[in-house]
Amino acid sequence: MKKFNIRPSTMPSLAGFYLAACTICITICPVPTATAAEYLTGIEWEEPKQVIPGKNNQAPPSDAVVLFDGVDTNAWNNAETWSVTDGFLIVGKGMISTKEAFGDCQLHVEWSSPLPAEGTGQGRGNSGVFFGPYEIQVLDSFENATYFDGQAAAIYKQTPPLVNVMRKPGEWNSYDIIWNTPRFDTEGNLTEPATVTVLHNGVLVQNNFELLGDTPFNRPPRYRPHPPELPIRLQDHRNPVRFRNIWVREIAPIQGKRTQPPALRDGKTTMKLPKTG
Ligand code: MG
Repeated sequence: MKKFNIRPSTMPSLAGFYLAACTICITICPVPTATAAEYLTGIEWEEPKQVIPGKNNQAPPSDAVVLFDGVDTNAWNNAETWSVTDGFLIVGKGMISTKEAFGDCQLHVEWSSPLPAEGTGQGRGNSGVFFGPYEIQVLDSFENATYFDGQAAAIYKQTPPLVNVMRKPGEWNSYDIIWNTPRFDTEGNLTEPATVTVLHNGVLVQNNFELLGDTPFNRPPRYRPHPPELPIRLQDHRNPVRFRNIWVREIAPIQGKRTQPPALRDGKTTMKLPKTG
């Protein structure tokens, strides 16, 4: 069977033929000159505020409230027995809670399970990040079997994380948490459940999960009405978990106001669009 080989010596001539064909096409083919109509939303948006990012994505940006920067526990209540050693915050007796209350927010926290690892299951490196009564589990889940909705980055007793991204004991983990607080009406009825998105060591592990209520050990979850802003808390579960680099940003939807109906602008002509939805 005859084979077709493209020898190196023929390649320049083929490339030349291709270029010539393209040139002819560009010369004789009409090029559309009219631009497409532009869609106008008719909404006047506020300008997004300027935020200066941290030196890296672990460092607090300019609009963050720093909750722990390695120096002291001034941002926390009940922290007398929690120690600050070598720039780390180490679990003491009882939960600590922020002096300031937070509603919808972005929280960054880094934590490290004790080394050597001691205990098993829920008894190894257990702590927790709480928004009011709602816990995102902190646990040494590196080669440590336990119930899945109680492992690291679980919403405790409600859902496991999507994947297990745990680092070895003694190494540092990070949580980046987007928290939307639940809403209640004036009668105390739930109108919007809490939702949470969590990145564990940069990997998505909770994807806008809707909480079923609070997260106790000994009964089903339930909602009890509370103000939208509550303290953030860190749990004492009798394990010397270390924390560092904790900061939080309050978040709010960007505001816009409709000043015109939606429209298409084609040159100088603006055509209003029928309302949808
Ligand atoms: Mg816990």
